[in-house]
Amino acid sequence: MYHVLLRDASFWGFLFQVDQDLAAHARQQGCSCGGRLHGANYPRKPRGGPAPLPGSRDYRLSFCCDRDGCRKRTTPPSVRFLGRKVYLGAVVILVAAMRHGPSPRRVRELTELFGADRRTIARWQDFWHEHFPQTAFWKVARGRFVRLAIADLPRALLEAFLHRADSREDWKRLLEFLSPITVTGGLAIKGIS
Ligand SMILES: [Zn+2]
Repeated sequence: MYHVLLRDASFWGFLFQVDQDLAAHARQQGCSCGGRLHGANYPRKPRGGPAPLPGSRDYRLSFCCDRDGCRKRTTPPSVRFLGRKVYLGAVVILVAAMRHGPSPRRVRELTELFGADRRTIARWQDFWHEHFPQTAFWKVARGRFVRLAIADLPRALLEAFLHRADSREDWKRLLEFLSPITVTGGLAIKGIS
């Protein structure tokens, strides 16, 4: 029952702490121009988890350079948000995985659990089967997975990382593994700049 943990508010508090660590690391590195980074979070209204996220954590951690003439934005990787997708990253993985496999969950059931409609769920499946395998990230990362078939994404990733359905640490490892795709350009397709 992978989805029980995703209904748990404290799980999202835990992932928020991981995001804070990732953000602290990015801030320490500073801007590529040598400038300092100041907090400039994006307000978000993420769907699929407890709503609103506990503790008003409904924003994506982000920074702006403090130097005049630069002001460049730096958005660190996240274990909560998957690029510009409205739904929380873990939900985008889990629902697509639950829709797949030997005994797929019905769309109606998934809609009741996570609020995503049929078209949204179909888009996520396309994302995992058609877009994700083409990314520069996956072209490199796939080497870690022996005999993983693209048709089994993202279920095969869940099975590779989640040894216990209710393990926060297992989810953390999976979401950290995928975090490079959550930044701008992270879903670029290999060969296209
Ligand atoms: Zn700068």
